[in-house]
Amino acid sequence: MSSNKRNWKPQTALVHGGTLRSGFGETSEAMYLTQGYVYQTAQAAEARFKGEEPGFIYSRYANPTVDMFEKRMCALEGAEDARATASGMAAVTAALLCSVKAGDHIVAARALFGSCRWVVETLAPRYGIEATLVDGTDIANWEKAVRPNTKLFFLESPTNPTLEVVDITAVALLANSIGARLVVDNVFATPLQQKPLQLGAHIVVYSATKHIDGQGRCLGGVILSDKKWIDENLHDYFRHTGPSLSPFNAWTLLKGLETLPLRVRQQTESAGKIADFLAEQPQIARVIYPGRADHPQADIVRKQMSGGSTLICLDVKGGKQAAFALQNALDIVLISNNLGDAKSLITHPATTTHKNLSDEARAELGIGPGTLRLSVGLEDADDLLEDIAQALKAAK
Ligand SMILES: *Cc1c(COP(=O)(O)O)cnc(C)c1O
Repeated sequence: MSSNKRNWKPQTALVHGGTLRSGFGETSEAMYLTQGYVYQTAQAAEARFKGEEPGFIYSRYANPTVDMFEKRMCALEGAEDARATASGMAAVTAALLCSVKAGDHIVAARALFGSCRWVVETLAPRYGIEATLVDGTDIANWEKAVRPNTKLFFLESPTNPTLEVVDITAVALLANSIGARLVVDNVFATPLQQKPLQLGAHIVVYSATKHIDGQGRCLGGVILSDKKWIDENLHDYFRHTGPSLSPFNAWTLLKGLETLPLRVRQQTESAGKIADFLAEQPQIARVIYPGRADHPQADIVRKQMSGGSTLICLDVKGGKQAAFALQNALDIVLISNNLGDAKSLITHPATTTHKNLSDEARAELGIGPGTLRLSVGLEDADDLLEDIAQALKAAK
């Protein structure tokens, strides 16, 4: 029995959406750790392969636990269809490669997650797909980069790590005007605070590794779009190249989805308090937080986001030395390049996630030697504030 009502509010869809309950009537979603499926008769196998009878064939194609995760994500996102992947990067790579062919051109915002930038800048050209990277915050830059063979736009908003915001509706309108598609990597906003499909994007991708798991356990990803695009462009790629999500990870992510709204709400509330506190500190040169009125694109934030994000970007005065001293003095907040976790995590992008970029490329993105990215977790906000205050004092 499957529950896929479309009119549920997010919190209900995230608890019940997509559930496939077996004959045992289990309350919690079952974990179907199976590679294959058996058929009552040879005729049944033939019919299933012909597509004349519904059912599972092989878990590289589809699996009941993975199916529940995909359907629950569709219910949350308001998407017609989805495919779950083994990681966020498998989702990004599939979404991009299945949208273009040799001779096509991609325009992407240059502020991309490091591996996404590698796929666009290094991998795609090897197969005859050219790419132009632009400062995505000004729609004029997207317009200028368009060529007769532009087939795809790709962006992330808010961006990693400087939390720049790109006007999704404006880029989607430009894409529609030239018959191109827009892929949005929506990890930083989470599916709760931003709905790219409603803003006009054609394809949304997630690293489910981040807030969707939210407890630092397993990798996963998902691609959401209209059924026609998935049937025509993604379906065969998935079957034959095998980026499939494991049922164990799908189960973990399903359980993560049940508590996603509670976690994101709490983490955002704490992030807002911490951002305001940091903005008052003389040792901090700059705080970028989408939930603050002084965010450089506060007007676009208001237009397309319903929350301020669980991440904060800050610049410590005194460069790398001061940033390292602050990180090392933290007690509760852990040094880690991951994000979206129940544990608060801090990272120094210039020496970790963005170390492969040239100094100029980093400067273009606003990543300086004192830049830190803080992912706010589920700890008590007052404990986090106290920890940051004592670390600032110790790092002086
Ligand atoms: C983490 C991340 C990815 C990659 O996801 P993995 O699950 O680590 O492969 C892609 N985009 C953004 C914005 C991310 O934060």
